[in-house]
Amino acid sequence: MESAGFLVRVAMKTGEFCIVIHEMTQNNRVGIPLFLVFLHYLIGTMIKIMQQKNAQMKNLILLCVGCFLLTMASCVPSSQKKGPVHVFITAGQSNTDGRVNNKQLPAYIQELATDTVEYKEGAYPFCRISQNRVDGLFVPYWPKGRITEGLWTYDAVTYRQIGEALQEEFYVVKWAVGGTSIGFPSDTTQGRYWSADPAWLSNTTSTQSGGKSLLLSFTEAIDASIDQTLSKLEQGYQIDAFLWHQGESDCKFAGDYYKNLKAVIAHVRNHLTEKTGKDYSKLPFVFGSIPHTNRDYRLEVEVAMQRLAEEDMHVYLIDMRDGELQKDRLHFTATSAEYLGQKMFDVLNKILDFSNMGFRVATYKDNKAAAISYTFDDGLMEQYTLAAPELEKHGFRGTFFVNGNTHEEGIIDSTRMTWPMMKELHDKGHEIGNHGWAHKNFGRHSLEEIKTDIYKNDSVIVAHIGLMPRTFCYPHNTKTAEGFVVASENRVGTRLFQRSIGGKATIENLAEWVDDLIRSNDWGVGMTHGITYGYDHFGDATLFWDHLDRVKAKEDSLWVGTFAEVAAYTQEQKEITFEVIKQKNGLTIIPHLSLDKALFTEPLTGVVKGYKRVSVRQGGKELDTRKQDDAFLFDFDPFGEPIEIIK
Ligand SMILES: [Zn+2]
Repeated sequence: MESAGFLVRVAMKTGEFCIVIHEMTQNNRVGIPLFLVFLHYLIGTMIKIMQQKNAQMKNLILLCVGCFLLTMASCVPSSQKKGPVHVFITAGQSNTDGRVNNKQLPAYIQELATDTVEYKEGAYPFCRISQNRVDGLFVPYWPKGRITEGLWTYDAVTYRQIGEALQEEFYVVKWAVGGTSIGFPSDTTQGRYWSADPAWLSNTTSTQSGGKSLLLSFTEAIDASIDQTLSKLEQGYQIDAFLWHQGESDCKFAGDYYKNLKAVIAHVRNHLTEKTGKDYSKLPFVFGSIPHTNRDYRLEVEVAMQRLAEEDMHVYLIDMRDGELQKDRLHFTATSAEYLGQKMFDVLNKILDFSNMGFRVATYKDNKAAAISYTFDDGLMEQYTLAAPELEKHGFRGTFFVNGNTHEEGIIDSTRMTWPMMKELHDKGHEIGNHGWAHKNFGRHSLEEIKTDIYKNDSVIVAHIGLMPRTFCYPHNTKTAEGFVVASENRVGTRLFQRSIGGKATIENLAEWVDDLIRSNDWGVGMTHGITYGYDHFGDATLFWDHLDRVKAKEDSLWVGTFAEVAAYTQEQKEITFEVIKQKNGLTIIPHLSLDKALFTEPLTGVVKGYKRVSVRQGGKELDTRKQDDAFLFDFDPFGEPIEIIK
């Protein structure tokens, strides 16, 4: 019996040894000489044992040698081929901390449990986490709440799928605390908040060190993880995305949620850039909205989320409006937590291509670095006589946001375009958008009045142009949450952000704008009224024509599209998810997109790498391909059949 105990101990030691060797070869070349000395000693001992006559012992030794060789075989190639280690950061309130019982974990996670009664213990094979801790250390991941064992949420699903797709170790830094808002009451001395308000932050410290800031706790945890662990990884590391679910507790600060959440995202991106010296200004931010049945649901919070997702090309919102909640009307059920987690994975996989399939959807048409739309407000005559012909000369098209009341029959106003002129612009490929019938300020009229005004303008445009406007532009730039919902209905987008390119324009600042767009892969929306007269007109019209020449010269990097074209493309690009299946002779892509296909009609540009030549088919139809550096590009129907990419 004693020898059996000894055998078990030897087996355990060998197992530990294999793990140590695995870590050493992955992370630390200094360990290798040490390992060779130990190997010499081990082999000597084994030979001595093999010379004895204990058959059981011999078998064990053979088993250990086999196990050891397998470990070595698995770690040698992995330490050679892998790029930087993937890192994800996750934060939020209770629906990110986890409030679903582990007994309701999906079966593909339960099978990893070592405790098959409560499912409170187990380990994911590839995920290591630093959860609500500031020592920078990581442990194998198993779903648990910050305080309570045996609870899970969406990220349990996301990490499981990432591990399956990557088949290599990755790291997560997570900070989540239930019941916490970004906004903070002005008169409190208590509480914990996510606020990124610089004045407030400068007067407090992290919650971890006794202060009120969750954001500082989160960034301190990230910093400690970098200092203690990530920066020591031989392969290096790359922070791939920021996952977030929060907002319920901001019901009291709903009106500020847009500004508040935007500041949190910017704060974290800036912090990472400063901490690492790498550019994290485009760090993907992936988050979910709040179910409408949540007792703390607020329209302003949801609209704030939608606005951020429309404005920032690197922000991805998962629509959870119909998500199921537990009886408390606050927390996700297993079904909705799993749904959100799976969707988050789908988005990440689309951006990051975990399995190195070599396919992605371009951020902009033709895989260009940035996009520009030119928008002209209020239907001024010069837009027809000067701006449109100049755009056309360059092969560009613009968007004209018009107010029906200024073009009514019987009104003679030589400063405004006529309907036949607008129809002509439309026929030439320009866009006529809705700017409200009577240019009503959203902040000063009832929702009913605003609705009537928007619909009236739609019908007059349809009557004269023959097409329902696909975009809307807020009069006086006034936006309200309800107004946003009404104006967005049945449209591809509303103008949420713009850059005035009129009176303050100089050759230099326009050139800088274009360079910034290309550098940051952004969509620029230029806005002007008249060219030589009207509100904020150009001091000198040639500034604008000169700008168009420069944009034309950079057309390889810039997509100049109408507001509707770029708005539709970018939303389709963000919403689409797809499965990529490796075939003997190429790939099959199965696209999923649930937008309204009558409205969203832009083809998307697919980018495929790693082939000398390809032919691409969708629904039996051959698609045109074009070469760009080491990639092939093709336009496909995002609502269409599976796409076959054939070598
Ligand atoms: Zn206007």
